[in-house]
Amino acid sequence: MLAPLFRLGLRANLLLLMAFASIVLGADRLRQIEHDRNDAILAAEIGLLDRANRVAERHNTLFTDTRVVLSQAVRLPEAASASETACREPFQQILDDLVWLGSVAVVSLSGDVTCVAPASAVAVNLADRPYFRAALETGAFTLSDYLISRQTGMPRLAAAMPRLVDGRPQSVVIASIDLGWLARLAQQTESGAADILLLDRNGTVIVSPGLPGTAVGTTLDEGAFAVAPSGLGRTRAFDGRTRVVAYAPLEATGGMVAVLREESAIVAAANADIWISALAFLGMGILCGLLVWFGGQTFVLRPLRMISHEAGRFGGGDLTARVDTSRFVPEFAALGRSFSAMADRLAAQDAELRAANARLHDLAATDGMTGLANRRRFDEQLVVETARCARKRAPMSLIMVDIDHFKRFNDRYGHLAGDDCLRQVAATLRAFSRRPGDLAARTGGEEFSLLLPECGLADAAAIAEEIRAAIAAMAIAHQDGEGGHVSASIGVASLRIVPGAAAETLVHAADAALYAAKRGGRNRVARHEDRLTLVS
Ligand code: GH3
Ligand code: MG
Ligand code: MG
Repeated sequence: MLAPLFRLGLRANLLLLMAFASIVLGADRLRQIEHDRNDAILAAEIGLLDRANRVAERHNTLFTDTRVVLSQAVRLPEAASASETACREPFQQILDDLVWLGSVAVVSLSGDVTCVAPASAVAVNLADRPYFRAALETGAFTLSDYLISRQTGMPRLAAAMPRLVDGRPQSVVIASIDLGWLARLAQQTESGAADILLLDRNGTVIVSPGLPGTAVGTTLDEGAFAVAPSGLGRTRAFDGRTRVVAYAPLEATGGMVAVLREESAIVAAANADIWISALAFLGMGILCGLLVWFGGQTFVLRPLRMISHEAGRFGGGDLTARVDTSRFVPEFAALGRSFSAMADRLAAQDAELRAANARLHDLAATDGMTGLANRRRFDEQLVVETARCARKRAPMSLIMVDIDHFKRFNDRYGHLAGDDCLRQVAATLRAFSRRPGDLAARTGGEEFSLLLPECGLADAAAIAEEIRAAIAAMAIAHQDGEGGHVSASIGVASLRIVPGAAAETLVHAADAALYAAKRGGRNRVARHEDRLTLVS
């Protein structure tokens, strides 16, 4: 089941893990968002209710103010005057202070207006008005029901305060409260995106500054006011759209203040929050993804690739390959250090092996007794130098040295002395191997060779003579030898080589010259006089 995941890269897998974690977190976030959304809707609804309460409170304050002012007005001497104009000045003062009042009038017990401010107000008989009669009967401040002014057609309330003398009403001061003004004030200071309505005790709209004029007179369905006296409801009145209704009582009138807002607007605001939340979550997801991607590159892939690259180099034979772990996280730093330590060990072992090999090679190429090159080494060098001289079209010479009557030497002085003699002759010969390509070798029992690349016959013969003289000059006693001392016979041959030349030719020629030297009486140098030229 997991097999496909192993084919994906490390970062792809990390991203998948992150996506999986995001789904889990996202589901939880979604639940939270849904919860927040419901909270937001609830908060908006409670906000509406607060507003309804504030507006109602302000209205109640205005009614209280009106009562206080009217109770002062009835005590004015001008209110008791029979003059039609006496009240006008103080009442105008009241109108200026309480701007929601439309008019203030003194009304006689028979319902006639005896004095009114402003002067433009139309005076009618109020004898049949319920609030007028109630004020006279109770002798107390009375508010009317909501009224539509017969004169202006505007919604209003009437406030009536009887003027009592000895507890008996003498007249009534009546003020008209402009409801439109009150509602407009509320709409301006409180509405926000909501509509504010004044409703009478039956739920019928009296004032609706925000909604179309046709809203006035509409009665909100009972369901809108499930809880008394204040609460939240819903209505589809006016235009069929669902509105949340928050309502609060106006104690003085028995009516209500209602604050309405379309439900879709509330939900839309809550949904906007959801979108912001979702986008923030998405943004964070993308950010985390980028962090995983580049973090994976820096902290995981780069070290892995570096280690793998250096391992590849090491495997390819570059033993200096090491990993610089300075910018690795600890785990990879440890891996890198292990690799480097392993590389150090392997490189050291390799160096040891090479040294041992070189020593072995030297041993295999050296004559144990004299320390000169042995026959094997001589044969190898002969081939190499033959090829080199052939390329350069240079001459090459070979000097072949054979100790005279050495069998007799052994016979007389013993084999150990013979060995000693061989070592001395070898040391002498070694001194004549002067140039890099020159090679002195022990090529037989008491037979030595000196290979001289890029050296002509005359020079080689001269060297051979020097060798012979040097051996003689060692003056190693040899009673049965030539002249009582150890001597050697030497053959010299030289040839100019061209590509394809066979190395043995030179050996045969030198051997022939040596034979000639022996036959000629020993302790001498003989050269192979023929100028050998080999053509392939
Ligand atoms: P010639 O002058 O004709 O060269 O006579 P020769 O006796 O030197 O030549 P021959 O080939 O007859 O004898 C070579 C002798 O060298 C035989 C052998 O005992 C001796 N010899 C060969 N190798 C060694 C060695 O490693 N140590 C010793 N001590 N003697 C050796
Ligand atoms: Mg010999
Ligand atoms: Mg000999």
